[in-house]
Amino acid sequence: MGWYVPRPMESAFDAFAQWLRESPGLGMLLITCLPLLLVAWSEWKDVRQERAAEPLFSEEEGPASEAPVEASAAPAPPRLFDRLRRTREALVDGVGALLAGRSLDAELVEELEALLYAADLGVQTTENLLETLRKQGSGANAQEVREILRASLLEKLLVVESGEEPLVLRGTPHVVLVLGVNGSGKTTSIGKLAARHAAQGRQVVLGAADTFRAAATEQLQVWGERVGCPVVTGPAEADPASVAFDTVKAGIEAGADVVLIDTAGRLQTRKPLMDELGKISRVIGRALDGAPHESLLVLDANTGQNAISQARLFTEVAPVTGLVLTKLDGTARGGVLVGLADEFGIPVKYVGVGESVEDLRDFSATEFVDALFGEGG
Ligand code: GDP
Ligand code: GDP
Ligand code: MG
Repeated sequence: MGWYVPRPMESAFDAFAQWLRESPGLGMLLITCLPLLLVAWSEWKDVRQERAAEPLFSEEEGPASEAPVEASAAPAPPRLFDRLRRTREALVDGVGALLAGRSLDAELVEELEALLYAADLGVQTTENLLETLRKQGSGANAQEVREILRASLLEKLLVVESGEEPLVLRGTPHVVLVLGVNGSGKTTSIGKLAARHAAQGRQVVLGAADTFRAAATEQLQVWGERVGCPVVTGPAEADPASVAFDTVKAGIEAGADVVLIDTAGRLQTRKPLMDELGKISRVIGRALDGAPHESLLVLDANTGQNAISQARLFTEVAPVTGLVLTKLDGTARGGVLVGLADEFGIPVKYVGVGESVEDLRDFSATEFVDALFGEGG
């Protein structure tokens, strides 16, 4: 009796031996690679076991992963508290340091006057706040003085909070003329605003009526590409009114929802500026009845009291319906917003608190005052 070897096995073995004899090179290769193949196979098996041990929807794969990925794609917007840090330090923290352990008397009122004035609230607003303090706060302790100031600032800012829902449209298309001196942040604010409208599925057309500098038109075109909306331009040094007119017409033809028109603001040419802005406004009205539906004046918070003089000049030459205060991040002069509110009473539509798209915020008096007086929690 010999070894019992099942036939198929025997024939397979025979075939393998035969193949080895016929092609020894390939055989040697197979034998040397075998250990490597075994190692690779065992590694692969381990990985499979680890995978199987993971929850079905781990953080790396599967539907449950979408939440964290989305969260990192759209991080929580930076808090106003952080963006207003320097203004808070100049205004509210400064007041806190003055008040520490004291109660309100004539000497403290004088020190407060200097501080409020330095924090860019302006003469009129500072006088007004001191008046309130003298009336309501005689002998008040630090906390009470702080509360009086907080309530007074909130009262002033609530007056200029726009009662409208954000990004409301009042025309077809809704035409917005954007004014302000060079460098105030007009083009950037238009880009951010266009992005916000586009995010709601609205069709936006931009008009480059700042025809004075070629770079201004190019900058608006870059925003147009980013946001994915057409930009109407004119030849170099074209009449801005004619570009504005063409933009409104293009918006009507395209069935756009929103038309945003950029302008030049050369303060050194005061008389021509007046004529130019007046003319742009009139010509837009000729292209579409009721337009412009909004004329936004953009002011740079860094310029402090200068922003107040700019507002005086522009409100003389154009019917400004709303203010945009930019660059509140990184300036200690945000107190100028209170001065602007007090003197002009024009709704503050937006505040700029940074350079990215999400940094043009709807102005809320409560949020603003909370960020100034809050503890940052
Ligand atoms: P324009 O001349 O009025 O059109 O002003 P631009 O839109 O060109 O803005 C001038 C500069 O201010 C640019 O560098 C902008 O990025 C910057 N800027 C505009 N708004 C803000 C803001 O809210 N915060 C900061 N930090 N920079 C801003
Ligand atoms: P006025 O200064 O208010 O009298 O305005 P004009 O009637 O003189 O127009 C001023 C400018 O606006 C013109 O030079 C054109 O550039 C522009 N404009 C006015 N109406 C039209 C129009 O129907 N089509 C175009 N393309 N531009 C117009
Ligand atoms: Mg510009």
